[in-house]
Amino acid sequence: MLFPTHLVAAAGLGRLVANQPRETDIAVTGRSWPALSTGWLVLGAALPDLLDKPLGLLEVTTLFHSIGHSVLLLPAVILLAVRGKRGAAIAIGWASHLMLDAVHVVINGRPSDALFLGWPVVVPPTPPAIPPGEFVWFYLGTPSSYVEAVLWVAVGALVVRSLRTSSDAGEGA
Ligand SMILES: [Zn+2]
Repeated sequence: MLFPTHLVAAAGLGRLVANQPRETDIAVTGRSWPALSTGWLVLGAALPDLLDKPLGLLEVTTLFHSIGHSVLLLPAVILLAVRGKRGAAIAIGWASHLMLDAVHVVINGRPSDALFLGWPVVVPPTPPAIPPGEFVWFYLGTPSSYVEAVLWVAVGALVVRSLRTSSDAGEGA
């Protein structure tokens, strides 16, 4: 998916977690959802592209999905996640990026491209290998780009709803 969409999705996730009614969760699960910082979620969601796009552009790697998009990082990410709420937010943001990129290639009929998840043990057999800037034009109009549009609208609706809720709470106070 496009880089800004990963950031928007992570911000939406942060908003969604922040909106969880804590008392209900405690009653149902016996524990509350941890509030995750939207900023750290967004940073985590940015990391795969911040790592891999420069590596691809500098031709250090042949693909634009490499180390940052690989489940090879999973042990390090889990170690980060168990260190605290910031680490957990970064880990979840990172995982959301990988999931959305995998969903994107599957929706666009290129499921073998999801093998980027196993880099460098397995790699996509015929990756598009299009530089990030050019990729936008290649990508717009594909089924996944419409899914992204829906995601932006959904996160927008979530933000509007939470702004309304907080302004109602402000008026009620
Ligand atoms: Zn990516």
